[in-house]
Amino acid sequence: MALAGVWGHLLPALKADLELLLGSNGDANMEGALIARDKVGVQDFVLLDSHTSEAAFLNNLRKRYQENLIYTYIGSLLVSVNPYQELDIYTVTQMQLYRGVNFFELPPHLYAIADNAYRVMCNEYNNHFILISGESGAGKTEASKKILQYYAVTCPTTEQLQTVRDRLLLSNPVLEAFGNAKTLRNDNSSRFGKYMDIQFDFKGAPVGGHILSYLIEKSRVVHQNHGERNFHIFYQLLEGGDKDLLCWLGLERNPQKYTYLIQGRCAKVFSINDKNDWKIVRKAFSIIDFTEKDIEHLFGIVASVLHLGNIQFEEDSNVQMFLSLQLLGAHLSILQEALTHRKIEARSEEVLSPLNVDLAFYARDAVAKAIYGRTFTWLVNKINGSLANKVGFFFEQFCINYCNEKLQQLLIEMTLKAEQEEYELEGIEWEPIPYFNNKIICDLVEQKHKGIISILDEECLRPGEATDLSFLEKLEEKVGDHAHFVTRKLADQKTRKSIDWVDFRLLHYAGEVTYCAVGFLEKNNDLLYRNLKEVLCNSKNSIMRDCFLLSELDNRRRPETVATQFKNSLTSLIEILMSKEPSYIRCIKPNENKEPGKFDDFLIRHQVKYLGLMEHLRVRRAGFAYRRKYELFLQRYKSLCPATWPHWHGPAAEGVERLIKHIGYKPEEYKLGRTKIFIRFPKTLFATEDAFEY
Ligand code: ATP
Ligand code: MG
Repeated sequence: MALAGVWGHLLPALKADLELLLGSNGDANMEGALIARDKVGVQDFVLLDSHTSEAAFLNNLRKRYQENLIYTYIGSLLVSVNPYQELDIYTVTQMQLYRGVNFFELPPHLYAIADNAYRVMCNEYNNHFILISGESGAGKTEASKKILQYYAVTCPTTEQLQTVRDRLLLSNPVLEAFGNAKTLRNDNSSRFGKYMDIQFDFKGAPVGGHILSYLIEKSRVVHQNHGERNFHIFYQLLEGGDKDLLCWLGLERNPQKYTYLIQGRCAKVFSINDKNDWKIVRKAFSIIDFTEKDIEHLFGIVASVLHLGNIQFEEDSNVQMFLSLQLLGAHLSILQEALTHRKIEARSEEVLSPLNVDLAFYARDAVAKAIYGRTFTWLVNKINGSLANKVGFFFEQFCINYCNEKLQQLLIEMTLKAEQEEYELEGIEWEPIPYFNNKIICDLVEQKHKGIISILDEECLRPGEATDLSFLEKLEEKVGDHAHFVTRKLADQKTRKSIDWVDFRLLHYAGEVTYCAVGFLEKNNDLLYRNLKEVLCNSKNSIMRDCFLLSELDNRRRPETVATQFKNSLTSLIEILMSKEPSYIRCIKPNENKEPGKFDDFLIRHQVKYLGLMEHLRVRRAGFAYRRKYELFLQRYKSLCPATWPHWHGPAAEGVERLIKHIGYKPEEYKLGRTKIFIRFPKTLFATEDAFEY
């Protein structure tokens, strides 16, 4: 079973973030005994009269939200709207309530999704994943944590397994300390993508886990926008670390002293208690198997990043430099040289050329980012060890939107596949459903040789010659006539909105997004000057040596570019997902002010669109709105027909046939499958339900 994670990046145009929560299994038990029509709206959008009307969709969502009913289904997909207030629906009693209960019998809930995944995994030895998506602040991380808690409380465990459970739960605060930060949109925004796999034994007890992380937003280490913070860990350390520790690290308690912490001008945040969080993180470290030496090295690195940020090149700044070197386990004169000179290799000779002040600052920031980024990866690996069964903005945005594009494709394909399989299984004729296939956009990005990533990689192979502009020109030349690439000429003519000369525009499934190409080449290369790398490879700090392997100094090995690495990790993620059964949770952010009860129509309509909810509903409703096993259908409605009341002794299918003949279903309203009745329109069902009630 797996839980997968969050891309907490802010995407101004598309605003599409993603948290993927991975789980263990299937659809088979999603058969409920009741239709469970709520007093407030419908609890499953497939039961809406008009399944193509966005207005009806929004109405239903609004009505429910105003009653604090934040969850609604589309079939087996769960739509969640962030309540921005504590609701009493996450108690242990609630958890127990959802255990082993059929999907539709209780109000929609995360726990129903979690429980269903778990049960199918146990019953059918099948794997399952839960994909959680939504924009920044929509509630993805909260949802994944709640599901994890659900498993922690409801799964069987032994004393020995207790440790695994605690580690799974405690890996979260550590990852959040190093990977989350306050942004304008979310005080606890995840700045990395996370996929968590939970392994269960045959008895259904959690025995291990594995976390994959993607694309930590390294640029945040050296720069934060106004109103935003650096990663939580820096503030936690300063606020919570005891005197001796800070003294050893050469740190002062006041965050205002550190260049890397003052740019956002909001070191203190009302909703965050850094001191308390520090305690939780410190405790978590000891439980997830970190030695005192690991912890010492780790905080040495955190502190050295802060010291690095304070190095000034115009003045004599040996003190700061000395501190960071000592903590990084590097040699003073060598790092000093590495930060102020660049080693250029010409044939067999190495020449040291001094850097000007701007470049020295640049090199300093590059080192800080590299150190933090790799330490984060090290941290995730380390956590994995303990769980083992024994972005410059625009480039990142491009990668994340590409990721969303891939996952949307997966969602539609899997939904279609599931529908088709069910129809076939039930012996019902399959009528092809027209839908928008976004493979064309995925290809545009990822295709070998012709795709945008390939073109970018090719340009990265021409150092010195290629520029962001030449990359743009190549794009125009190679994909300029692609239907989803808007060339600059066309953009001008068509929309009359001019497109900046450094921009390119893609038509994603969720809408058009303009990308600024500045920095694409550099971000994709993500290079560190060779001599800086040498210093880090030879560090005395063992974490640094793990992060910067000597083999990287081998010139014959060309490192993979960032976009290609991302593409590859996404491909393997999709492969993992394809081998599992899906559940989906789509999180919606109701307003921009983190305010409870406020339903901002405009903002929500936008999210309904980019989350592909209408498309999903269309596919899900294209054939039949409702289906139910004969036994369950008969049990509920048998009182409507004298032949089936009070008992029907024959096969359930025949009973249902008698029943619907009696109540007058027309042939076009339903189909009878092998084990289920399929009803085309909700109104048929509601009429039956009404007859049943009176
Ligand atoms: P990002 O992409 O920035 O990481 P996210 O989707 O992970 O965003 P969360 O951090 O899960 O967003 O949620 C943001 C905030 O919204 C939480 O800190 C919490 O205050 C509130 N919130 C989210 N879900 C719930 C919930 N189910 N109940 C109460 N509050 C919630
Ligand atoms: Mg998050």
